[in-house]
Amino acid sequence: MARRHGRPRATAERRLEPNRRRCWSCGGTLWVAYHSRRRLTLLEEVVQYTVVVRRCRTPSCARYRRAYRPEEEGALALPHGEFGLDVITLVGQLRYREHRSVPEIHQALEHRGVVIAERTVGHLIERYEELVALHLTDDRRLRERLSREGGVVLALDGLQPDVGHEVLWVIRDCVSGEPLLARSLLSATEADLVPLLREVHDALPVPILGVVTDGQQSIRRAVATALPGIPHQLCHFHYLQEAARPIYEADRHAKKELKKAVRGVRPIERAMEGRSDLEAEVTRGYCLAVRSALTDDGRPPLRASGLRLRDRLEAIDASLGRLAEKGGCRPSWLACGP
Ligand SMILES: [Zn+2]
Repeated sequence: MARRHGRPRATAERRLEPNRRRCWSCGGTLWVAYHSRRRLTLLEEVVQYTVVVRRCRTPSCARYRRAYRPEEEGALALPHGEFGLDVITLVGQLRYREHRSVPEIHQALEHRGVVIAERTVGHLIERYEELVALHLTDDRRLRERLSREGGVVLALDGLQPDVGHEVLWVIRDCVSGEPLLARSLLSATEADLVPLLREVHDALPVPILGVVTDGQQSIRRAVATALPGIPHQLCHFHYLQEAARPIYEADRHAKKELKKAVRGVRPIERAMEGRSDLEAEVTRGYCLAVRSALTDDGRPPLRASGLRLRDRLEAIDASLGRLAEKGGCRPSWLACGP
């Protein structure tokens, strides 16, 4: 089907990494197999994600060559979806809580800055209906999919597009990326969440290998009560990423400003073209160092790319300073310095 509107441009770029580096089946290393690119329209932003996918390379392992995607991915969107779960939740709530029509929901989304076609709103209502109607016990496709994987790692997320309204609780499997159950609740006490976890536990055709959550206290207690003895991992990376988000934004801005300061590399390179003397060689070396610093993306959130760029540029600057001091070979372009 032809698109009448192009997809919105991404307003942010982010990287999603799986939590684990070791295979839970054989204990071997999970190697990075490939990166997939995925653009998601969320309520607040349009994000271009780089999704790191790992695989076990032990031929004798039950999980040999099976893709292992970041746990967090399923909290953001349904498999293959272009819109975030937060958008789907809001659409569903507007439809079923406030009984709004498709054109009204479309308008409400546009009002919030979400770029979406009216026809797509209809599709998202269908996705929401499928989600809340999901019953693991009678979903053959899903049961077969889970059986093939041999086990699930559960994650529990609460989606609340508007503070003070209902929360859509989604229990999903991190291994297959499939949602397993979704219920809209007004509160989220331990007593509310335990029945949801039990329902999934009782309907699963495979064992639960572990649970990953963000560690909110009511969730922690509910997991301990409903799934005793099952390992429960708090998603540290998720924690850290959330905490580091303001720093990440500031760092991105700083990097942009730093890049402006070294924009003059290309003219310098051009001026050295065709020359093979010592000054030209040295100059080319420095230009290459600047270029390589510019393409180094760091590893956020712990290794901020802006700070890294500053470190590398400072090292280049210091080296140029030493060069000028020695005076043996003072390139003509050094006078203008950074
Ligand atoms: Zn393995």
